[in-house]
This record gives sequence, structure tokens and C-alpha cells, in this order.
Amino acid sequence: MDKCSFCGRSREDVNLLIAGVDGFICDSCIEQAHSILEEDFKSNDGFNLEDDKLLKPKEINDFLNQYVIGQDEAKKFISVAVYNHYKRLLQKKDENDIEIQKSNIILVGETGTGKTLLAQTIAKMLQVPFTIVDATVLTEAGYVGEDIESILTRLLQAAEYNVEAAEKGIVFIDEIDKIARKSDNPSITRDVSGEGVQQGLLKLLEGSIINVPPQGGRKHPDQKMIPVNTKNILFICGGAFDGIERKIANRLNTQVVGFNATKEKEAFDQSHLLQYISPSDLKSFGLIPEIIGRLPVLTYLKPLDKKVLRNILTEPKNAIIKQYIKLFEMDEIQLHFEDDTLEYIVEKAIEFNLGARGLRSICETIMMDAMYELPSSEEKTFKVSKDYASKKLESMNAQNLHITK
Ligand code: ADP
Repeated sequence: MDKCSFCGRSREDVNLLIAGVDGFICDSCIEQAHSILEEDFKSNDGFNLEDDKLLKPKEINDFLNQYVIGQDEAKKFISVAVYNHYKRLLQKKDENDIEIQKSNIILVGETGTGKTLLAQTIAKMLQVPFTIVDATVLTEAGYVGEDIESILTRLLQAAEYNVEAAEKGIVFIDEIDKIARKSDNPSITRDVSGEGVQQGLLKLLEGSIINVPPQGGRKHPDQKMIPVNTKNILFICGGAFDGIERKIANRLNTQVVGFNATKEKEAFDQSHLLQYISPSDLKSFGLIPEIIGRLPVLTYLKPLDKKVLRNILTEPKNAIIKQYIKLFEMDEIQLHFEDDTLEYIVEKAIEFNLGARGLRSICETIMMDAMYELPSSEEKTFKVSKDYASKKLESMNAQNLHITK
């Protein structure tokens, strides 16, 4: 007689008996096994923080290298910050211990230089819940307290409401520069909205228990709030900080007085002032000192030049060109991009001022007809020449290229 190989009950005694290769399992054993799995998952939080699993900064950097081209300085800062952050989580609680402070990060660099990608890659590596929020949305809604909490609603959703996992997650706050105070002098023009949001963010960044509406939206008296402790959540903020170079230049020029002055002044690389960025420049830009204090790791991203764009096309683990080759491979078609085609794509991205984000749109435009027609043809190989690429691109109005993020 058929019976469950786990609990031994027969078919009559259970609701459902499922047959396997060598035995059976009943519905209640499935349920039980499922809850064991869930428990196990919870205790692991979906990722491992055991000492031996914690990657060293150089290993973190190596991981980032697989996905992000260039930006060595930012990678180094992030690798150290993330390493210290998780070391801090592993710190045994001892009263006499030195308390390691949180290493929230702020990334400054033009749009499309890889800020979001860096944060995403770190989250991928750690397998922790990750969410991206746009700081500009926080200002628009105006209802500050509530909107700030919605950041955590998103993180909770990313963690499938596993609060413990969410509490070790990563939040990327994009366009943090857009909530800057418009004037350096708070007593003259007080930009309440921007500053209000900054104040609201403070309690999140420093670590406190926040009551989060599980579905987001406005607070509702009947809605059951979920308390989330932000103490161990890593916040990575990003912003373009348009025009901050001027503030940096001002500071550098006024700072350099006294002996050795002329020598140092000459040493500044005027074409790339971002490398000298310091917390005081963020303050001049309009971030309040309290926020700056809670984002102790400050680093910058360089604008992408031709060489980097060219590498982005082919080098990352999931590079755009590799993706097309894979797609065609699934139809047993060998796809090949000629070198000058790749150069051409990069030139167009620069010409249209689309940066790295434009690479994908340009490739899509070039490849659309081939992707449509080749799967139904007998072709087994396909070469994308520069001629072919330029014909396809020119037949399309450049205005139609949309930027994908
Ligand atoms: P940001 O957040 O700085 O505005 P993103 O990280 O969103 O820019 O970059 C947009 C896209 O451009 C990414 O998804 C990625 O495909 C590509 N990209 C940008 N910078 C790099 C880089 N340094 N290495 C690899 N890809 C990059």
C-alpha cells in the first residue's frame, strides 16, 4: 500500500500523497519541510556573515571589477567601507568595546558614471535586500516624515517582509544633491523642503527604530506599522552635485596660503577637481553638517572617457555585447561585432551625449532588424560591420533613442 516515506501514514490518512522516484510524500510532511526551510532561511537572513565568508577589501574590489569598469578610487573606498560595515555587524557586544561607527557612503559623480551600478553590485555580492530610492521624490510629495519612511517600506518589500534581513540591507539614495539647501547661508534663504527632507533622513542614517507602513503611502491609523531598526542598514547616497567643482576650486584657492602655497597651487589638476572633494564642499553645496557627518565615506566617480565606454561594451561579466552574442547563440547563430563597429557605437554615444546609458539604446537600434529577422532565417553567422551599424542607426531618428536606466 502507498504510504508517506517520511511519516508513514497511508493514502487514506492524508489529503494528498505525491509520488517520487522511490517513495511518497504527504501534504503535511511537505508543509513541515517547507517551514523548516523557511526557518533555516530566516536564520541565515539569505546571506552569510560568518567570519570566513566575509570578503576582504581586495576581494570585494575584485568582485566589483567584474561588473564595473574603471572608477578605481571609488571601488577602493567602497570595498573598505563595506568590509568595515560588516565587521561592525560581527563585533561581539562587549561593554568595554570601542563602538565602530557606521560607514555610510556618499558617491559624487556625473549621472551615468556607475554610482547605482556600484551599489547594486555590492548588494549582489552580499546577497542582501537592496533598494534604490530617488531623493527628489521625497521633496515633491512634501509630506516629509511619511515619505522618508517609505524608503524602508521599499527595503522591506525587497526583503519580502523579512524584517531581520531588511535590517542588514543596503539602501541606495539617488540624487541626494537635489535635496540640498539652495543657499549656503541658512539665515538668508531657507529652503525648507530640501532641508526638511535632510532632517528627516538623519534619523534613518544614524540608526533608530522607525515605524514603517508595510504598504507605504500615507499613515493610516488602522495600519499596522512594522518597527525597523536602521542601525545596521548601509546607506549609499549618490549625486551629480552639478557645479561643485566651483566650490572645490574656491576652497583650494583660498586654502592655499602661506608657505609652499605656489607649489601646491600648481599641483592641482584643474581638469579634474572632483578628486579633491572634501566634506566642506558638500556643506557649501547645501547639505547640512549633520547629514555630512553621517556619511563619513566620501568618494567620487570620474566622467567616462572613450576608452572606458569601449570597455563597458565588452568587458563586464554581463556586458551588452556579450548579451547579444548570448541571445543569438540561443538561436544557434554566431554573432560577431567588428572592432570599428564598437568604436562607432562609442563615438555615437559621445556625440549624442548619452554616456554609458546610451550604449544600450544605440545597440538596440542597430540590432533590432537582425533580432527580428535572423531567428526565422537560415543564417548561421552574422557580422555586424560598421557600415551595417551606421545604416541602421541613420535610418532611425537619433531623437528616438531613449535612455534606459
Ligand atoms: P549613475 O547612478 O551614476 O547615474 P548608473 O550606475 O545608473 O549611473 O549607470 C548607468 C548604466 O551605465 C549602468 O547600468 C551600466 O550599464 C553603465 N555604466 C555606467 N558606468 C559604468 C562603469 N563604470 N562600468 C560599467 N558599466 C557602467
